Amino acid sequence: MTNTGLSDDQASAVQTEIGAIYERFASMTEGEVADYIPELAGADPASFGIAIVGVQGRVFEVGATAAPFTIQSISKPFVYGMALEDHGRDGVLEHVGVEPSGEAFNAIELDEVSNRPFNPMINSGAIATTALVAGDDHVARLHRILRGFGAYAGRDLQVDSATFFSERASGDRNRAIAYLMKSSGMLDADIEPLLELYFQQCSVLVTAHDLAVMGATLANGGLNPITGERVLAQRYVKDVLSIMLSCGMYDYSGEWAYRVGVPAKSGVSGGIVAVLPGQAGIAVWSPALDAKGNSARGVAVFEELSSRFSLHFLESLFHNNTIGHAIARSQPDA
Ligand code: GLU
Repeated sequence: MTNTGLSDDQASAVQTEIGAIYERFASMTEGEVADYIPELAGADPASFGIAIVGVQGRVFEVGATAAPFTIQSISKPFVYGMALEDHGRDGVLEHVGVEPSGEAFNAIELDEVSNRPFNPMINSGAIATTALVAGDDHVARLHRILRGFGAYAGRDLQVDSATFFSERASGDRNRAIAYLMKSSGMLDADIEPLLELYFQQCSVLVTAHDLAVMGATLANGGLNPITGERVLAQRYVKDVLSIMLSCGMYDYSGEWAYRVGVPAKSGVSGGIVAVLPGQAGIAVWSPALDAKGNSARGVAVFEELSSRFSLHFLESLFHNNTIGHAIARSQPDA
């Protein structure tokens, strides 16, 4: 056994703690599965998984961590990173701001002065960001998104056609947002193909394990800790993480920063991915959502993990002996 960061006892203590947290929150019944996208309405609210991947590839998981679900808004920080690579920070800032909106994720509202969407984690900003993904045609741009997500996850990923068709058929609010941006000169793309790409990006199938690896890749400065592939230039990692910290949890983001204190992004299919820079990626999936649109179980689990393991970044700075730091130093089992 070559684990330098965690002794066997500590490793089994982490696994036991996660197992205990899983058991404790498995009985929660709060929240409702999203149904505004018809295909999401059939999700089982009891589904539940927790996955942690350290920056050297150490994995801890419990529950339904291999079950597929669509990535939804968790796609947004990863596509934001692609836009940054394709256009640079200033190029992207011309099209989308970095300010929390305080509004719902699907608000039909732009910054009155600049006409920009407030930030890339709400739908307006995410549609603007998707428009910035480079590629000669639709297929090339979809390929770039799928290849990019797959590089973060360390395996090939695919679009779930049923969810894509369901989103396209029920997506008039996103259509309204996109046409508003076009009318104010913020978008010059053809709206329908752009929305198709956005709906496809939201309909990519992932697992909680995948999301934890994707989070661990950001935690590891943009280098996938399992495959060793460089997925995002290190200079953009802090841009992505800053937006996740300020805007990643819908209009619960301020409270999340206060209570949990880690950059994170959630999606309406019930996933939450969090990034502990230099330490680990953590994902929780459970489809029942609270009134803000975040996984009810997911928020409860992260609040518990954060307080038990001192994960809040303003707290963990004061210690170098937290479980997060130990997981970070720990190698996968041989
Ligand atoms: N595809 C969803 C939408 O655009 C994503 C929403 C979300 O996860 O916040 O409505």
